[in-house]
Amino acid sequence: MEEQEPSKLKVAGSSPAGSVTLFTIDMEPVLVLDAAYRPIKQVSWQKAMIMYFQEKIEIIKEYEDKWINSPNKKFKIPAVVRLINFIFKFPFGVKLTRTNILIRDNLECQYCSKKLNRKRFTVDHVVPRSKGGKSSWENLVACCAKCNTHKGDKSPKEAGLILKNVPIQPKVNLFRYVHGETPKQWLDFLNY
Ligand SMILES: [Zn+2]
Repeated sequence: MEEQEPSKLKVAGSSPAGSVTLFTIDMEPVLVLDAAYRPIKQVSWQKAMIMYFQEKIEIIKEYEDKWINSPNKKFKIPAVVRLINFIFKFPFGVKLTRTNILIRDNLECQYCSKKLNRKRFTVDHVVPRSKGGKSSWENLVACCAKCNTHKGDKSPKEAGLILKNVPIQPKVNLFRYVHGETPKQWLDFLNY
């Protein structure tokens, strides 16, 4: 890889015809792992390139269809990088918020799998509050308005619904800044 100011690099993606079209991917996030391959944060690809030039990281996975063009060379944008000399200690859990529940649940209704919009989704108490259900990571799931209305004050079984996943408390809050879907290149490393 060449020494070049990352901010001056151009970003290209492929079109179906194979020609290269330029577009901006300022939001393209890079997952940062510590030396033990544990996910600790996400950064912009520009920041990741700076860390690469500083020899702080190694590139573990790349985005398949996104390149950085320099005058003589083009190379793929990193999707997952590893800090070579850093072990992270996890000092805290993830705060229980509506958004973090949505993120944990991968922006999908936990009953019907419908994709949820960040601005329009509901949070359901699996065991209804009227039956002693708590507002906890283990009892709250993201769901669509339709399923929530259908479920009402019933348990999933009573309402004929099946939970997609057992709700648990995530260990690391990684997704706060992801717009859209979690990149598939990250999935092997997100054992939260
Ligand atoms: Zn639903």
